[in-house]
Amino acid sequence: MADCIFCGIVEGSIPSTIVATGERVIAFEDVNPKAPVHVLVIPREHLDDVHAIEDGTLLRDMYELARQVAEERGVARSGYRLVFNIGPDSGQSVFHAHLHVLGGRHLAWPPG
Ligand code: 5GP
Ligand code: ZN
Repeated sequence: MADCIFCGIVEGSIPSTIVATGERVIAFEDVNPKAPVHVLVIPREHLDDVHAIEDGTLLRDMYELARQVAEERGVARSGYRLVFNIGPDSGQSVFHAHLHVLGGRHLAWPPG
């Protein structure tokens, strides 16, 4: 989709640090990390947010890549958080569905 930052990352026209890939999903470092581990998992296909993902197997692929990243970064045992921000109250700022993988420090609950 034109003017979508994350589509640009998928296409390679916008630089990013890609950490894992799958057939339909990719994972890359968040440019402004909120924790020692902060990776974004996105579908290669443009979908505005998680509500637009109708294919449950695509959601599963995102979850499985997120879990793989957590294991590779060594946070799967210490604990980590998976987050979908959806809509204005959540602070969603990029409208290409993405799953945050956050870890490597204590994460306060409830989130701010
Ligand atoms: P949201 O607030 O929409 O849930 O999360 C969007 C995330 O995308 C933010 O954590 C932000 O730091 C990250 N982000 C925004 N622009 C870029 C970019 O150009 N490259 C990368 N790697 N991350 C980005
Ligand atoms: Zn997009």
